[in-house]
Amino acid sequence: MINATEVRNGFKRRMPGAGEPRLFRAPGRVNLIGEHTDYNEGFVMPAAIEFSTIAAVSARTDSKVHVYSKTLDQAFEFDLDDPAPKPVDGWSDYVAGTAYSLRDGGAKLRGANLLIDSDVPLGSGLSSSAAIEVSAAYALLAIAGVAMEPIQIALACQRAENQFVGVRSGIMDQFASCFGALGHALMLDCRSLGHQELPLPPNVSLVICNTMVKHELAGGEYNQRRADCEEGAKTLGIRALRDITVEEFADRGKVLPERIFRRCRHVVTENARVEEAAQALRSHDCAVFGELMNESHASLDQDYEVTCPELNVMVELARQVSGVYGARMTGGGFGGCTINLVQTDAVERFHQMVAKGYQERTGLTPEIYVTAASQGATEVFPT
Ligand code: ADP
Ligand code: MG
Repeated sequence: MINATEVRNGFKRRMPGAGEPRLFRAPGRVNLIGEHTDYNEGFVMPAAIEFSTIAAVSARTDSKVHVYSKTLDQAFEFDLDDPAPKPVDGWSDYVAGTAYSLRDGGAKLRGANLLIDSDVPLGSGLSSSAAIEVSAAYALLAIAGVAMEPIQIALACQRAENQFVGVRSGIMDQFASCFGALGHALMLDCRSLGHQELPLPPNVSLVICNTMVKHELAGGEYNQRRADCEEGAKTLGIRALRDITVEEFADRGKVLPERIFRRCRHVVTENARVEEAAQALRSHDCAVFGELMNESHASLDQDYEVTCPELNVMVELARQVSGVYGARMTGGGFGGCTINLVQTDAVERFHQMVAKGYQERTGLTPEIYVTAASQGATEVFPT
């Protein structure tokens, strides 16, 4: 986990004369179950992870924000009073976009010196983007003395990513980064934004395996899936696929063309799986939870068709290791990561067997991250 004292010291070296910083940590996240349900107004179940971003901040007397990413060793400067800010198509858009989104939501911000450091792998599907947005938001609000509800912060960060950075994404990432709870998964209703904290057993680890591939078709296929779901909901006469049960769908879904039927069946059954998975956690039943993860993967593979050979190899290898409850792809698909629920005392063995097997079968060296469900955004203090 990224060290607050080192970040503080880094800030003082980089920005001498900028005073003593305050530090705000925001985590990345992983989605345990509930894939491609968010834009169907359904349920997702992310957990905040131990990989996180820290924003160190001190106030300035002007209206400028001087931001330095220690992760990338790059600096950028922008003006909070800029009446018509333009994105520059770089990492700084995540920070500037967040500041402008807060400002446009009515927060009276003040100039700041900001240092960002992170141990969330960038661009790997663990939401380093939400972590930088949320940590910067907390830092900028705190230094300006502005109080804001976490849900408003999450929404402002999502707007920054949608509108300023230009990435069409749901609320899950920013929500998990703000609301993460130590040792808990979050079940989020993407329609109402209501959520529940669900306990994960203490002796299990979340193990994330990066396939190290990202197939190019991801963007176009994503839009196609959204369109298929919209068409299905329209034909069924419902607002969103969240509004039909598995039983109703088995009957009424018959009118749908074959491909649309399968796409919709994934979403409808996936929503049901999230609710069952929540029940499994309430009764501390990892075996059932893991089985639901496996079913989720099969549905994403066969009905939704968003897996790829590398993801399938990774889950297949994982399931051969004893002490693994379940394995599935996580994120949009076509590459990226898998999430595995693993008994903590089996993690070592898992690491060795899966890394070796994946290398043999694909010629690629996977990255494997071991983590636990962690706390959401908060101020941290150097020791
Ligand atoms: P993910 O959110 O899965 O990590 P994204 O593509 O959504 O992937 O976001 C990654 C981008 O976010 C990076 O390419 C970079 O522009 C920005 N970013 C995230 N963390 C940092 C950081 N610590 N310093 C600078 N830029 C960052
Ligand atoms: Mg992201």
